[in-house]
Amino acid sequence: MAIRLLSVVGARPQFIKAAAVSRAIGARPELIEVMVHTGQHFDPEMSDVFFEELGIPAPAHHLGIHGGGHGEMTGRMLEALERVMTEVRPAAVIVYGDTNSTLAGALAAAKLHLPVAHVEAGLRSFNRRMPEEVNRVLADHVSALLFCPTATAVENLAREGITAGVHNVGDVMYDATLFAAAAARERSSILDRLGLRPRGYAVATLHRAENTDDAAALARAVAYLEAEAARRPVVLPLHPRTRAALARDALSLAAVRTVAPLGYLDMHRLLQDAELVLTDSGGLQKEAYFHRVPCVTLRDETEWVETVEHGWNRLWRVASWRARSEIADYGDGRAAQRIVERIVERLGGAA
Ligand code: UDP
Repeated sequence: MAIRLLSVVGARPQFIKAAAVSRAIGARPELIEVMVHTGQHFDPEMSDVFFEELGIPAPAHHLGIHGGGHGEMTGRMLEALERVMTEVRPAAVIVYGDTNSTLAGALAAAKLHLPVAHVEAGLRSFNRRMPEEVNRVLADHVSALLFCPTATAVENLAREGITAGVHNVGDVMYDATLFAAAAARERSSILDRLGLRPRGYAVATLHRAENTDDAAALARAVAYLEAEAARRPVVLPLHPRTRAALARDALSLAAVRTVAPLGYLDMHRLLQDAELVLTDSGGLQKEAYFHRVPCVTLRDETEWVETVEHGWNRLWRVASWRARSEIADYGDGRAAQRIVERIVERLGGAA
């Protein structure tokens, strides 16, 4: 008998993580995936492009929910997801990462007594002012299966008393990078389009609430990036939230080259030949390492502590990188396959 799995996605990094897992689900004929897109990210360049480039099947349900405060958005998602889950009656629900869509999906499923599988469980910044931290802590505490990308994540969960259902499977973002790397090199013309020389530019992203919500914080980040752009070209695909925040505070990036948000292949092509990455994104800190490019994280803490310990990443207020060595965490590119095996096992099927 077919096993139905419902997966909840809504924001850019979730499409990328779900692409890897979705492919692994697709390889198992006994599984049926019902994907629900909450609508949290809705611009074609923040959503559709990833479905196209990563070959993700169109979601079965699109809830069209975005905007509003955190409570409003999460509440509307909770209500709509409960309805879909009641109708679909999946054997398990898969949620990804740390957005409002993650929390709403996990909570709706837990209340319906559906086992929740959390992909990218156990990450902690230990900063409860981050909306993402609240989402991930709560999602972890209602999950039956916790798929950790690193040993540190497993330890973080143990410290909170969570040891059952915890699996260190590696990082699905690494799976996604391996999947896209060759295609990015062959198909993306972004270097030519932007007139960039290999190893002669930096790639930047900026979108965390702690850098965009407050005028002084945004001005600090802008000044930092402008100073970096005086050294070498800095290309910054501008997140819609940051575009709105810059307009709100009448700030502009003059030396930094801003471009529209990029598709996954263009982004990876840029990363492949960058000299440096400057970012407050979680995903990009690791992708910088996957392409062996040093990274400066535009934050005062990071969840991806291995990248700092092994000298590939530093926080922006720290002057220099530690001695560089390879990182054993993040797996072998088969995290998604392991996730699917553990889910099937848990549901009583053969793994
Ligand atoms: N990304 C992309 N185009 C962009 C900016 C980011 O494809 O213009 C990709 C990036 O390579 C990574 C993911 O989006 O795979 C990271 O998403 P984001 O920074 O939005 O979220 P976070 O990782 O901080 O949760």
